[in-house]
Amino acid sequence: MSHDSHCAFCKIVAAQIPASVVFENQTSLAFLDIGPLADGHLLLIPRDHYPALVDMPREESTRLLSVIPVLGRALLEVTGAEGFNVLINNGTAAGQVVPHAHIHLIPRQSGDKLGYRWHVSSYENDRPAELALAYQEALRKHID
Ligand SMILES: [Zn+2]
Repeated sequence: MSHDSHCAFCKIVAAQIPASVVFENQTSLAFLDIGPLADGHLLLIPRDHYPALVDMPREESTRLLSVIPVLGRALLEVTGAEGFNVLINNGTAAGQVVPHAHIHLIPRQSGDKLGYRWHVSSYENDRPAELALAYQEALRKHID
């Protein structure tokens, strides 16, 4: 099992840092975010150290993601939220602060004023076709 002795989340996995753990199995752990955006905000992490989701082997990431619906049902029941956001920040530019892959589950209520504004743009000319082709080529390399 890979572990980074400088990583805060690895320290939580190793019980060297206390956390309010709500779920654990052989490969993953979920606990309360200590800086919650809403009451009951959860973090779901793999026990193994991977800097980001894209660094995880496919089977590992599938196993981790499969926990989301189970946690989500519990979150809705416990917090009384009307919904929740699943958020994964991949890389510093995307707002990832702790370099150990993690998934946020953020309880939401109508009108809670949480969230962000996307600035929606549009495509010109052949750009969608170019992108689709580039994606298809890249995915042939990455899908095992
Ligand atoms: Zn780690």
